Amino acid sequence: GATSKHLQLRSSPLKSHDGTRNGTVLVFSDISRLKELESHRRDFVANVSHELRTPLTSIQGFAETLLTAEITDPEERRRFIKIIHRHAARLGSIIEDLLALSRIERGTEGQAIELSKMDVRSTVRSAIEMCEDRAQGLDIEIDCECEDEAVAAINAPLLEQAVVNLIDNAIKYSERGKHILVKVVPSPQDVRIIVLDHGIGITRKHLPRLFERFYRVDKARSRERGGTGLGLSIVKHVCLAHRGQVDVQSEPGKGSTFTIVLPTPH
Ligand code: ADP
Repeated sequence: GATSKHLQLRSSPLKSHDGTRNGTVLVFSDISRLKELESHRRDFVANVSHELRTPLTSIQGFAETLLTAEITDPEERRRFIKIIHRHAARLGSIIEDLLALSRIERGTEGQAIELSKMDVRSTVRSAIEMCEDRAQGLDIEIDCECEDEAVAAINAPLLEQAVVNLIDNAIKYSERGKHILVKVVPSPQDVRIIVLDHGIGITRKHLPRLFERFYRVDKARSRERGGTGLGLSIVKHVCLAHRGQVDVQSEPGKGSTFTIVLPTPH
């Protein structure tokens, strides 16, 4: 649990000049954090393997059927090949997201992510543009409220990816014809980028774990919409790289609001 600790204990005898033992030195090291990281890494490897195995199993199965069974109907063959193609694309998206995550994490650790002071509105606008086609296909309109200049120290491509992920989710988890609102709100302390939808919403009990890798409320729906379960963990790591944070408020059946908070430079 959160309060239990992992201690490593080392002991060595203390001897006096004539070799007689007159004491013992005990060293307790708190290795809780190390143990925790180890267990996260193990979970992560297990999760990645599991996520990759599902599409891979389908690809193998359908390819084998094509090879061994006598499927003469060209329509049927084509259907199988389409399934293989879809699962291969899924493998591709998972791997792409994993690579993006590891690049951002490495960059943050080595402080290699360059931030420059600029108005975030152009980045937000281009993120909206990136999502417009998908939204239109579902009759979803994306409104943008960003009247005031909003300067923050940002890495524009990374921030754009984070905002795209949020808008993408807003689209994925909304019904046809709903509106999405994107706002940029500057204040003396910070710049907030708010993505608000009127979609399915999220039950409170899921909120604390939402930004974890591969955490999904409804696996089937996420998969069906082409989700990888990594979008929000990318958003979180982009925010950390900016020394900012991401918050969520949501009500089931009403919609969700995700807020990226970026500190203002001085
Ligand atoms: P995914 O690829 O599954 O969308 P994310 O990491 O982007 O993965 O999101 C994790 C989960 O959070 C999703 O599977 C979904 O259950 C939930 N979620 C994210 N954004 C929204 C939203 N705007 N409305 C409702 N649920 C959401």
